[in-house]
Amino acid sequence: MEDVSPMRFDYRALPARVLFGAGRRRETPEVARQLGCAHPLIVCTPEQKDLADAIASLFTGSPAHIFPEAAMHTPWNVTSRALALVQETGVASLIAVGGGSAIGLAKALALRTGLPQIALPTTYAGSEVTPIIGETQDGEKRTRRTLDVLPEAVIYDVELTLTLPARLSATSGLNAMAHAVEALYSVDANPVTSIMAEQGIAALAAALPEILANPASLDARNRAQYGAWLCGTCLGSVGMALHHKVCHVLGGTFDLPHADTHAIMLAHVVAYQAGAAPHAMRRIAHALEADDAWSGLHALAARLHVPQSLAEIGMPHDGIGRAADLVLQQAYANPRTPDYDSIRAMLERAWRGAAPQPDSL
Ligand code: NAD
Repeated sequence: MEDVSPMRFDYRALPARVLFGAGRRRETPEVARQLGCAHPLIVCTPEQKDLADAIASLFTGSPAHIFPEAAMHTPWNVTSRALALVQETGVASLIAVGGGSAIGLAKALALRTGLPQIALPTTYAGSEVTPIIGETQDGEKRTRRTLDVLPEAVIYDVELTLTLPARLSATSGLNAMAHAVEALYSVDANPVTSIMAEQGIAALAAALPEILANPASLDARNRAQYGAWLCGTCLGSVGMALHHKVCHVLGGTFDLPHADTHAIMLAHVVAYQAGAAPHAMRRIAHALEADDAWSGLHALAARLHVPQSLAEIGMPHDGIGRAADLVLQQAYANPRTPDYDSIRAMLERAWRGAAPQPDSL
């Protein structure tokens, strides 16, 4: 894998309309009308039912139905219940209100019905701008890429993020940064995505500590949401690498919380890659205004008071070997070729909450 700004690249922009700005949720019915589908099903998690009600109340002509059962990792049994409601009500579009869980459910429904989607994201996870869907059935999470799941329109209304608790804002923000970090050393890296990645990291790195100090700051929330959009666009545009593989394995195998897992692992994986991707490391460090990428990310995570160890979020110690095996099971592009011992050692450090250790090749 080349570690310079690639001057030979493929760049493909994804088709989606993005509306950004405070209060723009009120345009949802008009956006739905323009998509030719006013009669929607709104999906959300149980905790965000009130918000779904508020969005539904904007639809004065044709009523909106609500399915408030979205859950992490898009479990198949939830999707099949929602699918039954889609068929029963004859809705003409899907609206996801919430984080990656709600958006994942709308994607699963779009995949099976072909209905257009509008996403109103309330976290920084970025799923709304990716053609990626991860679904869980019988304890196994399967991920695939298809344009069939990409929402036609995304409405970023910063006011919907004001209620995101400070701790979740921090972990969700680091989850977003992970997309941009891996985009910078992706096998598909290209100049456009790399510019978005650097900007996304810089916006989030500056905004997240401000959000922690003042969760009601509209200005900091705006910059974080802007950064999250850029980072999500990176995830949708180029292939990810070891960090996403590790988090996928840990989340899927031990049912660990998605954003926490990303927040804990990011500095460790970046330290692991450091010697193999010096150009990307310089760009990450520059965006963080830090001496180097991994220590900058480690310091940011400490400043944001996110969980420091996999043990803290419920990973069993005897799962480390199995996780290392699973991480190595399928080949994927990564700047450094992973091997069992080094992956195991990295997971052991992350499990204990020890400092990341940069490896030279
Ligand atoms: P989430 O959607 O599971 O939300 C976590 C919790 O926070 C939920 O209880 C939710 O109701 C609550 N919440 C969300 N926004 C809130 C707000 N503004 N105020 C108060 N509470 C709020 O968390 P997530 O991290 O956004 O999403 C995780 C899921 O998304 C995982 O299943 C992950 O695999 C998936 N994901 C998919 C992609 C993709 O491209 N396909 C990308 C990122 C994440």
